Amino acid sequence: MQDPRSEFPAAGPGPLSHVLVLGTGGTIAGVAPAANTATGAGYTAGVLGVDQLLASAPGVQQHARLEFAQLCNIDSKDAGPGLWLDLARAVRAWRERAGTAGCVITHGSDTLEESAYALDCLLEPGSPVVLTAAMLPAAALSADGPRNLFDAVRVAGDPAADGRGVLCVAHGRVHAACDVSKQHPARIDAFGSGERGPLGFIGASGTRFTREQPQAARRPFASRPLPARDAPWPRVELVCSHAGADGEMVRALLAASSAGTLRPRLHGLVVLGTGSGTVHEQLQAALDQAAEAGVRVQVVPRNGPCEGGEFDGLNAVKVRIRLLLEGVQASPRDAQAGPR
Ligand code: ASP
Repeated sequence: MQDPRSEFPAAGPGPLSHVLVLGTGGTIAGVAPAANTATGAGYTAGVLGVDQLLASAPGVQQHARLEFAQLCNIDSKDAGPGLWLDLARAVRAWRERAGTAGCVITHGSDTLEESAYALDCLLEPGSPVVLTAAMLPAAALSADGPRNLFDAVRVAGDPAADGRGVLCVAHGRVHAACDVSKQHPARIDAFGSGERGPLGFIGASGTRFTREQPQAARRPFASRPLPARDAPWPRVELVCSHAGADGEMVRALLAASSAGTLRPRLHGLVVLGTGSGTVHEQLQAALDQAAEAGVRVQVVPRNGPCEGGEFDGLNAVKVRIRLLLEGVQASPRDAQAGPR
């Protein structure tokens, strides 16, 4: 990460909040070919720097004393645990230096819910950490990035956002990391929080939080040291139960894992089940084999979040993150060992 710079000095009366903006790429930093600038068609994600994004959000410096740093500039489809750790490390360092000041992360929309939830697990609730994104690239007509960034900075500087865990701000709404998901591939209002709904709404006069989290979200990893950047991560794969799911893919994974040709070896399987988490009998037979071999098997509903239990409210990709973090934090050596 570059040293954070401050080129957006405070303007206007009164003490302003202090906010760090970390750029990671995404459509919000996307650029389209010259002929398609207005429509944004054929754009490339992760091109513009976070300094350029801030410059394109007029008035944002009226709301906070800004520092910024570029962590990477990627399409978030290519994100991975290394990015979660870099972000968690940057936020922990910022909190040590700047106390209660908030942090905004610009991110691609595709895997925003994964980075947001991983950070929610890796950080104490503390000062606000707000991820934001855009569905249209920077120069498209009615680009949503500048407004989302503006709103995210306001939420990050709002004491009412303290202690709520990692948040996502998009399209005038504030979502909790544990609830939010990208629910449409292209619409401007792509993000939603399912039946729970957003935590709050952003209007001209600021943010109105309309609900609390139903229960304190569990953050089993927040007070522990972060794994090293090169720590071995366990393999946790997603498989789906569907008409004709015969379990052969699970058997192939198990065989390769036992033979040592699959590296790292298989640590867990998150199974997208039908209905409330039912599984085709042939796939179930293969999963039983996996469980006997020591693989952690967790079934989640394929049509919505888990209800009740330790994964209450989480979707499949977030349950996968929990299994990954358990594997990497608890015992990297066990994670390497894979199935017996
Ligand atoms: N592919 C882009 C990304 O996730 C999509 C977006 O940002 O909206 O980086």
